[in-house]
Amino acid sequence: MKEKIEMVKPIIEMDGDEMTRVMWAWVKEKLLMPYINLKTEYYDLHVLNRDKTNDEVTVKSAEAVKKWGVGVKCATITPNAERVKEYNLKKEWSSPNATIRKILDGTVFRAPITISNIQPAVRFWKKPIIVARHAFGDIYDGVGLRFDEPGTAEVIYKSNTGKEKRISYPKFNGPGMLQGIYNIDQSIKGFARATFRYAIMNKLDLWFATKDTISKVYDARFKEIFNEIYEEFKEEFRKANINYYYYLIDDAVARVVRSEGGFVWACKNYDGDVFSDFVSTAYVGTLALMTSELLSPEGYYLSEAAHGTVQKHYYKYMKGEKVSSNPTALIFAWTRALKRRGEIDNLHELVVFSENLEKALIKTIENDRIVTQDVAKIAEPPIKSIVNTEEFIDAIKHNLDQMMQ
Ligand code: NAP
Ligand code: MG
Repeated sequence: MKEKIEMVKPIIEMDGDEMTRVMWAWVKEKLLMPYINLKTEYYDLHVLNRDKTNDEVTVKSAEAVKKWGVGVKCATITPNAERVKEYNLKKEWSSPNATIRKILDGTVFRAPITISNIQPAVRFWKKPIIVARHAFGDIYDGVGLRFDEPGTAEVIYKSNTGKEKRISYPKFNGPGMLQGIYNIDQSIKGFARATFRYAIMNKLDLWFATKDTISKVYDARFKEIFNEIYEEFKEEFRKANINYYYYLIDDAVARVVRSEGGFVWACKNYDGDVFSDFVSTAYVGTLALMTSELLSPEGYYLSEAAHGTVQKHYYKYMKGEKVSSNPTALIFAWTRALKRRGEIDNLHELVVFSENLEKALIKTIENDRIVTQDVAKIAEPPIKSIVNTEEFIDAIKHNLDQMMQ
């Protein structure tokens, strides 16, 4: 056995809940610790620990990512009324992901893990399409008003220094409703920078689309800011031999479907909400084959699985049944964080290890045709033999060991 890989700086490790917590420990024990002297700063985001610390542990873990730059997160329960009862919690703590995103001001990038025996629903797609969603403002922080009679309405903006601006809606000729939405230059700039940076990191073209021909103030400002920020990255784009393309949103959607993939698609908030689900479902059909990475304008990085805690499987597991939950997205959360750590700290071995682990996993599904139940259902040709989670991890380890020789 070769010597273990040494790390220099830690990765912020955020442990989680239920089945993903169980798989998290297996992945570390079998696929990481035998090869790496794993250096992590550990934060336990188990729902009971969040409850015990009044959710301070979540805030601290996000602050730690700001300090060390790289984090990896397990799936966590977002408590609702049922969970408060189940775990006897003090209250419905807010979603850890929302808390962490707010602190890091990040953009979320979601990409399918492409595997040759899982065919995308769109037959032209050959390379991943990564959807980057601007998770701030627009209708997600808007106001709405219903009215019952014909009338008019006005928007009045008042600055802190007393300046005023007004704009009128067209006349309403009957009952209806109106909506007010906003965004902030600073947030759009941060979003633009995160997407340009991600495109450079992954050597992929960047697409951005709005409806600026119709929304001549609002969407036009998004386009303008993206053009402005592109100037900061133009030279790096040229060096990486990648391009920035701006489209109208309807044109972009048609182009996405006709394309062979292989680009980052930056989306306004609502577009990102809709198209991330569209692309992921059309691409792989299971959240266990998706990566989810958060990148902040300052370059802070956090990777996680796109799915939840796989609650139903956990209850079976707790009854002593073997379950066939798919650990792929969790493993990729680790490989991406290790790769990022390796790149920042100049640890070539760590980068190579994370790439090898990904290859070992893909080989297990593609060549060995050893799969968990969710993949068996969507693979082509169909796969009859299904393994449980531990057997799947052991099969990956077998391939990894061969590659590490
Ligand atoms: P979920 O955990 O994503 O699971 C929903 C279903 O998707 C599962 O029952 C399973 O289907 C399938 N699935 C998801 N991940 C899988 C995997 N790795 N392998 C195989 N199948 C997988 O969503 P949920 O049940 O709605 O939510 C459970 C908890 O997760 C909730 O408390 C929620 O708050 C939390 N959550 C956390 C995050 C996060 O931390 N990022 C995200 C979403 C939800 P079958 O049962 O049909 O096999
Ligand atoms: Mg959605």
